[in-house]
Amino acid sequence: RSIRISGGTGFVGRALCGALRQVGYKVFVVSRTPEGPDMMTWSDVRRHGLPTNCKAVVNTAGENIFNVKKKWTEDFQQEVITSRLYTTSVLAKAINGAEKKPEAFVCMSGVGYYKPSQTAEYTEESPGGDFDFLSELSTNWEKCSELKPEAKEVRRVIIRSGIVLGRQGGVIRDMYFPFYFGVGGPVGSGQQFFPWIHINDIVGLILFAIENNKVKGVLNGVAPQAVTNREFATALGKAMWRPSLFPLPKFVLNVIFSPERAKIMTEGQKVIPKRALEYGFTYDYPDIDSACRACAHLTYTE
Ligand code: NDP
Repeated sequence: RSIRISGGTGFVGRALCGALRQVGYKVFVVSRTPEGPDMMTWSDVRRHGLPTNCKAVVNTAGENIFNVKKKWTEDFQQEVITSRLYTTSVLAKAINGAEKKPEAFVCMSGVGYYKPSQTAEYTEESPGGDFDFLSELSTNWEKCSELKPEAKEVRRVIIRSGIVLGRQGGVIRDMYFPFYFGVGGPVGSGQQFFPWIHINDIVGLILFAIENNKVKGVLNGVAPQAVTNREFATALGKAMWRPSLFPLPKFVLNVIFSPERAKIMTEGQKVIPKRALEYGFTYDYPDIDSACRACAHLTYTE
């Protein structure tokens, strides 16, 4: 059976494609710049829909919010929104129109849905999604994945992901060299929560959602161990045999990224993966020390 993945050229998508191929799926990537027979454009999907042997559709596309080269302008914000809403809507429409429906539609979202707090604990039932740019983005993104009643047999799974830790992308790629040269440390006071998940586990959770026919609805895509930003920096320093003493002042991130998006690092929320644990999902890296060791030494496969 085949799987359609948008964003399959990205950090999470690449690792996911590898894992799916390893367990025997035929993977097709939807991309703005397809290269090769296993890739297709968005207009291909709009025009031709889904083939009958499509087992699942996964959306991991989205303009990188932390793109340092892009200023936080109205235009860029619009790109961040459109790249998520448009891609999700095209896939939802293809599923609605498919003669033979896929079993699952798995969509990424973010823990930015929940309001940053030093005291609150958030499960999937907790309120959120309506207080700032990132939370409203998550709400609208998730809404675009809604399917018509005729597609009600398709399991829709939304993964509200924490910060994904892996050597080949995301925050670790950005922080690796400061830590390597011994000048790494927490962001600001480091007291803010740092909702995280190792790349193998976010990939594992998506695979679990595709294959386990009981899984549907929202899953918090975070590790079971909640840590603060300082605890994360300490774990990464330890794993790399480097100090983690040099805090990155909050105002520096605010200047580089603007407060609205720097928030992802300067503020945080304590997120509990209640439903993933209830479903019996097992993590390769449930604790921050083992995840950081894997990122430092590349002992995992991406
Ligand atoms: P990447 O930044 O690696 O990008 C994923 C893919 O999205 C790209 O390879 C690209 O595919 C596609 N894309 C980028 N910009 C656009 C655009 N303007 N329009 C359409 N498609 C675009 O993302 P990650 O793999 O890190 O993350 C995957 C998803 O998970 C994203 O939606 C992200 O917001 C979300 N997420 C990620 C977290 C993380 O820590 N990495 C945390 C929480 C959520 P192509 O060039 O082939 O079109």
